[in-house]
Amino acid sequence: MSIFAFDRSHHDRQGALRKDDLWRAEDPRVLVLGGEHVATTDGPAVRWISLQEAPEGEWIYLGEQHGRHHAAVVVDRVAEELGPMSLRILAPLLDSDELSLALHGVAMARWLMSTPFCPVCGTRTQVRQSGHLRVCSVDDGGCGKSHFPRTDPAVIMLITDDEDRALLGRQAAWPEGRYSTLAGFVEPGETLEDAVRREVDEEVGVGVGEVRYAGSQPWPFPASLMLGFHGRATTTEITIDEVEIAEARWVTREELKAEADAGTLLLPPRGVSISSWLVESWLREEITATW
Ligand SMILES: [Zn+2]
Repeated sequence: MSIFAFDRSHHDRQGALRKDDLWRAEDPRVLVLGGEHVATTDGPAVRWISLQEAPEGEWIYLGEQHGRHHAAVVVDRVAEELGPMSLRILAPLLDSDELSLALHGVAMARWLMSTPFCPVCGTRTQVRQSGHLRVCSVDDGGCGKSHFPRTDPAVIMLITDDEDRALLGRQAAWPEGRYSTLAGFVEPGETLEDAVRREVDEEVGVGVGEVRYAGSQPWPFPASLMLGFHGRATTTEITIDEVEIAEARWVTREELKAEADAGTLLLPPRGVSISSWLVESWLREEITATW
């Protein structure tokens, strides 16, 4: 099983080969994608096919891995015989090499599928740079602007207080007993540190002082990059917003372990999310009241 977060990228994106589709002559392995759905084989693993076997679609060059070139073709819907599977489910089952390529491919596929028209003038855009650029062509009556793939930053944070307790919340949509770290999107013109402080204040009314970066995780559903932080609380009284958060509480390590063992407190799945990594680093005392 791979670690979803904080892993290094396992392919070389070889940006120079995107121009003029130079990689096409290199016998690439091809992944078929439809939104977040990936063609798979039993295992499960990513199903790789040849350029000649590939269906019609929009092409993305992913890069080189272990001396082979890799690409993806984006279709409206992955054919049933190719074993389509959502990357949300597949991700924790893939090895790091395949996960690296699949995350890149799905993020690009989501962007390509959602941006057919120029956001400035509404003209249909043309895909360039092996899927990594959309151009609003003047020849098509457009404005000539270039559009690049988007990544939307979101912060996710493990907040601790002076007694070394952790702050966990339950979203309104989650079942009773399921808790996680707080999270939220970064707003335009905002620093990451301020986004951490604002989200914690908005969701549970707790003040946060010092904030430190911990690690990141691509989450291409459709375009997020989860940025993990540790934060030190300056206040402890909880006032939940009751829209996003149904419950929030401070827990000690002993309480968390005991309740998780008893099954009365459910944490995010282990090893597959930055949220569980943040909680587990705190449980292992890698995040403490004295950092
Ligand atoms: Zn335009």
